[in-house]
Amino acid sequence: MVSFDDKDRYAIRRQAMIDYDLRGHDIRDPRVLDAAGRIPRELFIPEKYAGNAYDDNPLPIGMGQTISQPYIVALMTQTLKLSGDETVLEIGTGSGYQTALLAELAERVYTIERFNELSERAQAVLAKLDCCNVDFAVGDGSCGWPEPMQFDRIIVTAAMPELAGPLTDQLAEDGIIVAPVGGMLGQELIAARKHKGHLAATPICGCRFVKLIGQYGYSE
Ligand code: SAM
Repeated sequence: MVSFDDKDRYAIRRQAMIDYDLRGHDIRDPRVLDAAGRIPRELFIPEKYAGNAYDDNPLPIGMGQTISQPYIVALMTQTLKLSGDETVLEIGTGSGYQTALLAELAERVYTIERFNELSERAQAVLAKLDCCNVDFAVGDGSCGWPEPMQFDRIIVTAAMPELAGPLTDQLAEDGIIVAPVGGMLGQELIAARKHKGHLAATPICGCRFVKLIGQYGYSE
């Protein structure tokens, strides 16, 4: 049970995260900073780790998965250059924290997770926050959204072996995809824009994510 004192404490920690871990590095998009300042990250984390909700590192969320480090979440979101009218596909709902951030910044978010238990937990937290512009699916996101659709933005929150396959096919012309691409020991965070059907990729930084498990990802 979170008390009023806890709420104040979390608000102070959230502001410190914005000032030091996000703005203090290279997060400059005011919409991203503003949205991160409104989302109660402690609600997306198992209660025993809630005191660490605003530490700048990943935390366990169950099923052997993690909620990503706040800086990386903000960096990937900033890289999507969202103005508010985009349709976004997220692969790897996880805790739902990244989903909540996207939902604040885009028109509609479609998010897919391979573990039903994580998806259900994320859905419950987002419902509690009155977030109503998100569609959830459970399945293999490496195959893309289960219905034929085109997305203005795609964000992959698990390590992909290569930037190719059905996911990139679902990226609309002039759309942006951001994903960690590479092997198990570490990946490069890549942003790519689709132009005349081809992807022009830009490396952002090194990173380390859990594996994307699936037909176009890694085997378990
Ligand atoms: N963005 C998430 C957050 O804020 O909590 C972090 C997600 S975690 C780093 C990566 C997630 O991708 C895990 O929940 C994992 O189960 C999921 N995942 C892995 N392979 C997947 C696949 N093929 N389809 C959908 N989700 C997948």
